[in-house]
Amino acid sequence: MLDRLEQQAPDALLALIKLYAADDRSDKIDLGVGVYRTDDGATPVFAAIKQAEQKLVDEQESKGYLGPEGDIGFVHALMPYIFGKDATMGGRIEGMQTPGGTGAVRLATSLAKQAGVTRVHLGIPSWPNHAQILGDVGLETVTFEHARPDGSANVDAVLGVIRTGQAGDAVLLHGCCHNPTGVDYTREDWAAIAGALADSAVLPIIDTAYQGLGHGLEEDVAGMRSLLAAVPEALIAYSCDKNFGLYRDRVGAFYVKAQSGDQLDAILSNANALARANWSMPPDHGGAAVRKVLRDEAMTKTWLDELAGMRDRLRWVRERLAQADNEVPGLDLAPLGRQNGMFAMLALSKDQIGTLRDDHAIYMAGSGRINVAGLTKHNIEKFIAALADVTS
Ligand code: PMP
Repeated sequence: MLDRLEQQAPDALLALIKLYAADDRSDKIDLGVGVYRTDDGATPVFAAIKQAEQKLVDEQESKGYLGPEGDIGFVHALMPYIFGKDATMGGRIEGMQTPGGTGAVRLATSLAKQAGVTRVHLGIPSWPNHAQILGDVGLETVTFEHARPDGSANVDAVLGVIRTGQAGDAVLLHGCCHNPTGVDYTREDWAAIAGALADSAVLPIIDTAYQGLGHGLEEDVAGMRSLLAAVPEALIAYSCDKNFGLYRDRVGAFYVKAQSGDQLDAILSNANALARANWSMPPDHGGAAVRKVLRDEAMTKTWLDELAGMRDRLRWVRERLAQADNEVPGLDLAPLGRQNGMFAMLALSKDQIGTLRDDHAIYMAGSGRINVAGLTKHNIEKFIAALADVTS
């Protein structure tokens, strides 16, 4: 039976990690893997999380089962950060914990399917797992262009999709810090998208995996909040794995805005059943640590400072790359300064990406996506010189 399974193509990024590890050049640069790095190239555990974990070790009395909703204290503690002061929007938003943002996307899309959605419109390029999850859930993916060649968001493309969409359609939007392009909608774009969705049968699904890594915690979700205020219902997938540095602990949450408080219960009972069938309940540790941080003023401040440090560093890298526009005439680097978050796409050919690897020990995805956080004050000048070399 199992011999009917065909060999799957190896994950390209994992193959890149192996190549990078095998390279013994001391000045090699890894721009492939999607984790934040400090100026020293490290991905440390946040100090706020270390403190919270210590408290958990000291104070946690049981590891008995929770329900499919996970640590509801964690789910609720995040809500003011995501949704603002009126965090339930009048009793219409509730959520549950999920295994990472990936679990939240899985739950949101499965629930959409259960509610009658058949097609999901997806701006491309997108995080590759979006299309993979949609396919696995049994939803048709219909693509549109996310970014224009000038490095701005193609708002007309998404507006067109929404205006012509019908009942049974959903649109999947990145809340901020778009992966892989870094190209976010402007405030005006979000207002236009919100207006179009308010007049449409298309269901919005918003994936927010990088809150706080763009311009600020509030700034990064302002567009999403304006959309949520305008639409009757929406599904939100959220990840804490970047903004709390918890990657392998798999910390995420799924939220729904319902048409009324009454409908919330029925919707969440379906989400609960789906969670039960998928993973029964999410891993506890990371969510519990985030709850501890957010319920303690001093730890919250430590976290906010750490997050601001990450954001400032990403901004510094982006500004240096944008400035280098003149030094690399063959590449349009200026838009990187206007884009957000951990990722950017460079318009490099396969050959140029290969030369960067072979001649300069610089590793990036074959799509030209770079992890901006892989650049530091120690290696960024080498990177810029290498770009000038391969594009001249
Ligand atoms: N959505 C997007 C857009 C992402 O980039 C990622 C992570 N790469 C996720 C969701 C999932 O994050 P997590 O690691 O929390 O599952």
